[in-house]
Amino acid sequence: MSNHKHELPANILDILRKKRNGEELSREEIEHLVRGHTHGEIADHQAAAWLMAAHVRGLSRAETAHLTSAMLHSGEQIDLTFLSAKKVDKHSTGGVGDKTSLILAPLVAAGGLVAPMISGRGLGHTGGTLDKLEAIPGFRVNLSVSEFKRVLAECGCCITGQTAEIAPADRKLYYLRHFTSTIDSPPLICASIMSKKLAEGIDALVLDVKTGSGAFMKREEDAVLLGELMVDTAKRTVVRAVALVTGMDQPLGYKIGNALEVEEVIGALHGQGPSDLVELTVTLAGWMFHLGGRCATVEEGEHLARELLASGAAREKFRRMIELQGGDARVVDEPDRLPRAKSAAEVVSASNGYVTAMDCELIGVAGVLLGGGRQQESDAVDPAVGIVMQKKLGDPVQRGEALCTAHFNSAEQMEAARLIIERNIQVEAIAPTVRAPLVRRIIRDR
Ligand code: URA
Repeated sequence: MSNHKHELPANILDILRKKRNGEELSREEIEHLVRGHTHGEIADHQAAAWLMAAHVRGLSRAETAHLTSAMLHSGEQIDLTFLSAKKVDKHSTGGVGDKTSLILAPLVAAGGLVAPMISGRGLGHTGGTLDKLEAIPGFRVNLSVSEFKRVLAECGCCITGQTAEIAPADRKLYYLRHFTSTIDSPPLICASIMSKKLAEGIDALVLDVKTGSGAFMKREEDAVLLGELMVDTAKRTVVRAVALVTGMDQPLGYKIGNALEVEEVIGALHGQGPSDLVELTVTLAGWMFHLGGRCATVEEGEHLARELLASGAAREKFRRMIELQGGDARVVDEPDRLPRAKSAAEVVSASNGYVTAMDCELIGVAGVLLGGGRQQESDAVDPAVGIVMQKKLGDPVQRGEALCTAHFNSAEQMEAARLIIERNIQVEAIAPTVRAPLVRRIIRDR
């Protein structure tokens, strides 16, 4: 008997048993699982069981690469070969106040590369690039593939959301992971991220793997493992990749919240960005220029990035991208046009001393409680609310002095956020001596 349909149940049971017992699956077995589930031939309960087995037993590097490839080939791959310049993207595993994508896309386009960015929405305590861009009145992030290509051809950068055609297997599996507590598995995260990034038609990818209290990977060794897996997966393709493991022990820059972050981006594009945001952006851009073949070394790439920020060339690309994506580009010179919360209130320090630590995840949660993020997928975000840090790690502070200012539209939400912030920024009498560098590790592909 060789009826394909009749063979399916036996096959999937075999695949489940092998993974449950910790055996390595072949490329064919993983392809069978992903294809079958995407086409509805393998039931959700079986895919969910496989995800749990994979989470508990882990996946080898080869299995992770097969899973990524099967998820990538479950959908469409965007063909950008009509554009002669190299295409480069950056992906962050998620942080608080991380608005680098909004600066990087126009910055690398101003340097002559193409930045085709397919980004996501806020997830848990972390912000999302699409939510931030939607704070710009009129800005569209639901472009079709042909509109995406048109914007790229016109200005060299475009930031939009995932289309239904890209990696449909990821959408189905991610949904199951959400309900089976299997999100936090490095190989599953790697396959999820890389299947979508490899579908973008890019030549090079810079991965920003966050570590610290505001990251999904709190421990540096877990972030390194995820970075290694993603670079190893890229190595098996034609895409050049590097992973930078970077600190997320405090928000990046000073502003958290969608419109507030766009405002900070506009400041950076006018040459007035906070030092940590500018440092990370320039480092990531340096790698993008280097891997994209624009600069012989990363240092040369960093130098070019600084020039393009200082000359206003990156700002002009940002303006053009906003126009082409239907947004009100006047915000670039008049950030007061961005949505504003009705009220603002300070959260003050209870003692004299220095800021020695903060729970950055909970600062992100406070931003979500203000209404700036989603507690569940269907929630609408309020673009106007957020937090402006007044003090960062190592800063001296007096009793009664502001640690941050919360911008809010509801007094109740403000009180919930205040409680969290007050309890999770630590002030001590002795100044901290050693500060960890922003870039902790660099994982290269060759
Ligand atoms: N982001 C993704 O796209 N997938 C994951 O699994 C985790 C973060």
